[in-house]
Amino acid sequence: MQYRCPKCQSAKIMPLSNGTNVVKPVVPKSLVILIPALFILLFLVVLSIGMWIFGNGAGPTLQIATVVIFVICVLAGLMFWRDLPNFKISMQNFMNSNKDWKCRDCHHEWHV
Ligand SMILES: [Zn+2]
Repeated sequence: MQYRCPKCQSAKIMPLSNGTNVVKPVVPKSLVILIPALFILLFLVVLSIGMWIFGNGAGPTLQIATVVIFVICVLAGLMFWRDLPNFKISMQNFMNSNKDWKCRDCHHEWHV
């Protein structure tokens, strides 16, 4: 099994879903929580900084919201850390079972 393009040797390959029985990787719930939580945290932090620069500082609601989201991020991060070994195995199974690939560099498509 190779994870490189046979034409240009690029590692930037992506699976082509052909709708047939491809084993989908099991995405852990912690990752589903973690990614949006990180975006919200980033947004709140930018908002807080903006309020510190242009206003009288972040309001108490914003500060509480930032702390709550930060705690959620930490918890989801810890859960994801625990789920990571299973997630890796799931991804490897997916990579092995997937037969159709496309290169993002040279758009070459091939079948394993
Ligand atoms: Zn290529």
